[in-house]
Amino acid sequence: MKISSKVLRSLTAILFLLLTAAGLLWHTGWGTLSSFGWKDIALICPLGAIEVMLAEKTFIPQAFFGLAAVFLICTIFGRIFCGWVCPVPLLKRLFRKRDEVRIDEQKTREAPGAPHEEKTEGSAAVPLACAQSSPANCAMEAEPACSACASVRKAHAETEKSSRSSGARNAGPLAVLAGALASSAVFGFPVFCLICPVGLTFALLIALWRLFEVNDLSWSIAIFAGFLFLEIFVLRRWCGNFCPLGALMTLLSRFNRTLRPTVSRACLRESKGLNCRVCATACPEGIRLTEPDGGSSHAHCTKCRRCAESCPEGAITFPLIPGKVELSDAQNPRSQRRTGAALELEKRRTTFLPAVGTLTLSEMREQSARCIECGACVRACPQHPDIPAWMALLREERVRDAALLMLEKGRLPEICGRVCPSERLCESACPVAGGAVPIASLERAAVERVLA
Ligand code: SF4
Ligand code: SF4
Ligand code: SF4
Repeated sequence: MKISSKVLRSLTAILFLLLTAAGLLWHTGWGTLSSFGWKDIALICPLGAIEVMLAEKTFIPQAFFGLAAVFLICTIFGRIFCGWVCPVPLLKRLFRKRDEVRIDEQKTREAPGAPHEEKTEGSAAVPLACAQSSPANCAMEAEPACSACASVRKAHAETEKSSRSSGARNAGPLAVLAGALASSAVFGFPVFCLICPVGLTFALLIALWRLFEVNDLSWSIAIFAGFLFLEIFVLRRWCGNFCPLGALMTLLSRFNRTLRPTVSRACLRESKGLNCRVCATACPEGIRLTEPDGGSSHAHCTKCRRCAESCPEGAITFPLIPGKVELSDAQNPRSQRRTGAALELEKRRTTFLPAVGTLTLSEMREQSARCIECGACVRACPQHPDIPAWMALLREERVRDAALLMLEKGRLPEICGRVCPSERLCESACPVAGGAVPIASLERAAVERVLA
């Protein structure tokens, strides 16, 4: 059984918490991730190191070596700490309601996008659904003549807007970083360390440990827990909007060239000219791997692997040495369209069972993972449901979340999934090779599971 990177990332973060607990249990003195010590080696968090040197207005060799060690790690692995080690995303995953996470993710998604596009040599990408005789010209007109081209222009404008807002989002953590360093220099102590959620998590762990070991009940437990609650659950998007440690790691990762997500020629944009955006919408850092200037944002990559796991073509890898990767067809995990199995004729005659069976959970995951989030089906359906969002949830096996989304806006998915002529509506627009994504079958299977 293949374990998802989400599970592996959670297990890794838990392992570091357990190591801290083991240090407390056996009094090893190796401390925490924020302040680590082993024999003659003593390392502190890179942000804490700079803050302490600024506060003391002196060069501290141990702090400098800690900073150099983190720089080396960031140069080799990038912001891997944020994706795999930091306890803050783990706490979010453990304690926030799944629906809240979904709503947050929905907010960061782009609006349902353009129709699937086709590249014509030397011209702008144009929609396959364009009604004009010279579609490239139509798409470039100030007032496009058909709605398909107008959608393309709108989606391009949204992409621009989204890029600008991601730039503004980076400004937040950098401003907090500047404030943290300046305040340390002014007040003479590392101010941000008092409220750093990473440090607070370990401080809370230590305080709880003391409570159980020596019955030391102090106010610090409530204070640490209160600040953590505020930063993780009230400020919500702490990592993207505020975290100065993440901003510092991004700066230190600018020279990272190894283990970078790399798109092979199997990518649907390159191989088939389709407007696939799955990896861009899956990336929590808003990195657009398929865009020429995507390299400038690689320093933000946390190596979380969400893009690679979402790609319907398996076109994203993390090579040790950078470069364009070729994938053979044998490595291409793409599957064919599959709907529920037809009931045997004899059973159809003698029972009231449905003539077509329901997709299993693994079939739902496999079929939804074929969606490239082009949005063509959204426009083909008179109700314009956010089908790409359903598919994104189903590929993560979040069937309940997907079903709740299907049930929004007074829709009747349990009926649509069975009787709607989907092969002439949404599925007729789906450009995925190997047969359209079985949207109706997935809709029916998801809702049946939840309402059963
Ligand atoms: S580019 Fe891929 S690995 Fe990097 S942060 Fe985005 S989803 Fe994660
Ligand atoms: S998800 Fe895969 S196929 Fe789609 S744009 Fe990204 S790399 Fe290309
Ligand atoms: S189901 Fe098909 S048409 Fe709809 S967004 Fe996915 S790939 Fe595009």
